[in-house]
Amino acid sequence: MFAVQDRILTFGVSQSSQESPIEELKEQSVQYENSKPSKTVIVGVGPAGLATAIMLARRGWSNITIFDKLPRPPLSGSQEWGDPERSYNIGLDIKGQNALKTLEVWDRVEQHCADVKGRMDWIPGSKNPQRVDFIQKFGYSIKVIQRDCLAGCLLEEIQDKYADKISVHYNVECQQVQWSKNGHARLTMLDKTSIETPFLVGADGANSAVRSNLVESSKFDHGEEVEYVKYEDDNERVYKTISLEIPENFRDDLDYSAVCLDDIIIDALPLKGRRAIAVVLFRPNNQKILQAKTGKEVHDLFASYFPMFLPFLTAESCDAFARKPVHKLPTFQHCGPVIHRSNTTVMLGDAIHTVKPFFGFGINTALDDIFWLDRCLDSPTLRQSLVRFSEKRGHEAVAIVEISRALDRPGLTGLCNFFLPMLLDKLFEDLLPGVFAPNLLTYLRAPGVR
Ligand SMILES: Cc1cc2nc3c(=O)[nH]c(=O)nc-3n(C[C@H](O)[C@H](O)[C@H](O)COP(=O)(O)OP(=O)(O)OC[C@H]3O[C@@H](n4cnc5c(N)ncnc54)[C@H](O)[C@@H]3O)c2cc1C
Repeated sequence: MFAVQDRILTFGVSQSSQESPIEELKEQSVQYENSKPSKTVIVGVGPAGLATAIMLARRGWSNITIFDKLPRPPLSGSQEWGDPERSYNIGLDIKGQNALKTLEVWDRVEQHCADVKGRMDWIPGSKNPQRVDFIQKFGYSIKVIQRDCLAGCLLEEIQDKYADKISVHYNVECQQVQWSKNGHARLTMLDKTSIETPFLVGADGANSAVRSNLVESSKFDHGEEVEYVKYEDDNERVYKTISLEIPENFRDDLDYSAVCLDDIIIDALPLKGRRAIAVVLFRPNNQKILQAKTGKEVHDLFASYFPMFLPFLTAESCDAFARKPVHKLPTFQHCGPVIHRSNTTVMLGDAIHTVKPFFGFGINTALDDIFWLDRCLDSPTLRQSLVRFSEKRGHEAVAIVEISRALDRPGLTGLCNFFLPMLLDKLFEDLLPGVFAPNLLTYLRAPGVR
């Protein structure tokens, strides 16, 4: 934890430390001169906050401070990354990969990713698993990395290349944001210290403090109201994670998933080195899972629900699963279409679009936000840039949440929405590939769809 004084001092980077980078970037910065605030604060050191900081530094912005309420994650080379307690796996699709390539951080990230070329899904009532080839369907493979390892890579990129422009702080929680008449945002931290900034980025995830303050304050402003919708979770599932070892007779480049009629879903994304981390999603009242308190009981549970996964289990992973706490999934929520405040504040990532992780939209949409904010910042003024960004991404935030939620309806509707289109699409596409288009999920993952 930083001492109060340390924090206030480090929030203001001394002028002398900025002189040389500014000189170096003079030529490139002329184009954006009107858009560059003297200081930027980003709340949230998740993938979205870190990638935004890198993007802004590459545009020649400096004096960027980014902070998070949680402690610092381990470095990307740490052994801890195999531990599902530390972080779940996320799949980077073409949008996520392209956004990271644009930031020139892809090489660093890719070396920690498993290359996932397809899926194998066991659907209730069907004896044989259904196979999907990502290369055939999407034209590329999904790259899988643990969420905190991705954050670790982005952090190392900042330390190596942008340390003179970006300062990162952990264990600092933003509690309140107020906007003064001069347009500056004033942030008050949990320990009552405060900081003022002409430009604020809210990248603080599903329970964003920036968002809740912006939504409230916009109701009393003369500017545009920031709308926020949080849906009640009418199809609640909770989850536990489990470490798996991929047996020699199974491919190590597939996403393995299965659903059983007791409404439990397992999805195992591989890591490098024949390991995988599975998320087991179940109803909060599923006593069979909640009461499995020993490794043996967990093994028996898999034998009855997911026998196809038995060869992936180890005694340690069953014991660990039995001890694990149950986690809640985030509920569907969105901001939009307005996701900024005049020329002072903008929000992105899970703070504006939170979805359940079944469809892999979260991280990729977050990174795509940064790709587009970068382009919108080419506008002559910061205000115009943020208006453009709202126009471009505000509707998208609403759409991505609405689409995901429509696919997550309870009961038979949910099953029909989720599985039937997949089965029918697959059937018709296999029979008459030229006539039937790929399904919605495939379409949204196709290169070039934005
Ligand atoms: C089990 C699970 C599996 C998932 N799998 C996938 C997947 O396969 N594919 C996919 O695309 N997405 C997946 N997601 C979603 C994905 O993790 C998020 O979409 C992504 O992390 C969003 O990035 P972000 O930076 O916007 O938010 P976050 O990753 O949530 O980061 C926000 C950061 O802000 C910090 N913060 C919050 N409030 C404050 C505050 N008041 N002050 C200071 N700091 C604060 C938090 O500590 C956090 O570090 C999954 C999520 C879960 C829970």
